[in-house]
Amino acid sequence: MLAAGRTYSLEFGPPRTDEAARTLEKTLVELEPLGPSFVSVTYGAGGSTRDQTAGIVGHIARDTSMTPMPHLTCVAHRRHEIVDILDGYRAIGLDNILALAGDAPSDGGSGEGDFRYAIELIELVRGHGDWSIGVAAHPEGHPRSPDLGSDRRHLAAKLAAADFAVTQFFFRASDYFAMVEDLAALGVTKPVIPGVIPVTNASQVERFARLAGADFPADLARRLTEVADRPDEVRRIGVEVACALVQELLDGGAPGIHLYTLNFSRAAKEIWATVGLGRARP
Ligand code: FAD
Repeated sequence: MLAAGRTYSLEFGPPRTDEAARTLEKTLVELEPLGPSFVSVTYGAGGSTRDQTAGIVGHIARDTSMTPMPHLTCVAHRRHEIVDILDGYRAIGLDNILALAGDAPSDGGSGEGDFRYAIELIELVRGHGDWSIGVAAHPEGHPRSPDLGSDRRHLAAKLAAADFAVTQFFFRASDYFAMVEDLAALGVTKPVIPGVIPVTNASQVERFARLAGADFPADLARRLTEVADRPDEVRRIGVEVACALVQELLDGGAPGIHLYTLNFSRAAKEIWATVGLGRARP
């Protein structure tokens, strides 16, 4: 798909409540007409939503025209469990997988497993069928990395073994392009799809950014704080900023755009229409 041109993709996550499940279903119905190249579904590493990922990608594959890509994390998993999950995905005709390390469970579970780094999962997946394998990239460096240089080297090694990467969200296009340059200097030119998050809820995204090691720019925080009591205005600014970032990334040659939807459709639809992504219908 990436060899044929730019991809425009969307990310969803397993819902935690019945109401959230209804919202996700509505969102899938509303975003399907955009014709995304693929849609990815996150995996709750060690958490209660783990088993839901397979159900959601199965539903998308069976009941919609969209191509689903499950995320899969390996930390706290045994090898045979991963093999069972891959066999299940194969059985429903999936070809793509986003291979991640994940994080040790935060619920105090032992987190015992057979894997430490994503590259070990990539090796297992490679040896277990004909998959297109994506990996995670962190433009500003992974928060656990001792320094940016070592993170870039580990990312280059991962990408050498995989087919493409999707990035953590970020707010400055320069961080993305610097990473792509660093990778090229390390001899890696596989596609790295930038991930973009429209800020529709400032405090939530600031919290995500802290966890993800992404710098939340002070000027954006200030603009959002000024209108904090007007949710529609927060959303409008968030979409405007995301559109500008998407445009800058495309102008600079990014091989696609991956939108974090947080399971809502409105911001994604607006960005799609404003920037003119993919096969968007009016
Ligand atoms: P790795 O590539 O293994 O890297 C983790 C750290 O180890 C980095 O600091 C890296 O530099 C270092 N490292 C890598 N290899 C080595 C090595 N051989 N020796 C020493 N150090 C090494 N989490 C979820 O739980 N579920 C999801 O669905 C999910 N989806 C994501 C999607 C995207 C696009 C991104 C960017 C992240 C996602 N995450 C998800 C978060 C991710 O699981 C965490 O960031 C996790 O801490 C690292 O995963 P990774 O695959 O980048 O790990």
